[in-house]
Amino acid sequence: MAKRKETSCAATLTAWQKSARFRAIGSEAIRAFHAIRHTLPRCTAVAKVSGERCGNLARPNGKCWCHGGRTPSGDGWHRPVWPNDGPGGERKLNRKLAAIQRNAKHRERKLAKATAEEREKYEAWGKTHQPGSKVERVRKRKERQDAAAFKTSIETPPKRTSNPELEELETSLAAARRRAAALEIELAGNKGIFG
Ligand SMILES: [Zn+2]
Repeated sequence: MAKRKETSCAATLTAWQKSARFRAIGSEAIRAFHAIRHTLPRCTAVAKVSGERCGNLARPNGKCWCHGGRTPSGDGWHRPVWPNDGPGGERKLNRKLAAIQRNAKHRERKLAKATAEEREKYEAWGKTHQPGSKVERVRKRKERQDAAAFKTSIETPPKRTSNPELEELETSLAAARRRAAALEIELAGNKGIFG
């Protein structure tokens, strides 16, 4: 009987990975996972035809890897999802990169053709859909609002409050200044006669 050929997977294992200790640790981890597996949340997707629940393990958004669980949301909504290492991983990665480039080109073409109004709408969307955590976005929005309020406050002159007493005083001050100017002219004329 011919000796069984070692598989390519086993050939890449290190001595540590082949050791009994390593296998024991792995077995223990799998046993511990299976002990709690039934308590973990399940995917909430329902089959249209049979009406049965999916039942795969759910990701943080309540769906499994094939029902939208890998779709980034929350803080990571803007990040692309890269494929895992595995069969066809490189092909998937290249396809993903090509799709990202294609989308970027499509966006550029669309923007080049966009009207001023459409472009304004696009830019407004970009401003209100910034990546990052909600706390950070709220803080930035507050900063923008404060800056806008400060800008308008220094651009518009302060509103004068109407004060009848002040207005009366200003009128008499202006009259006194006119009188002083007239007297100075009169004095200069007198100097011309007597000087
Ligand atoms: Zn599912």
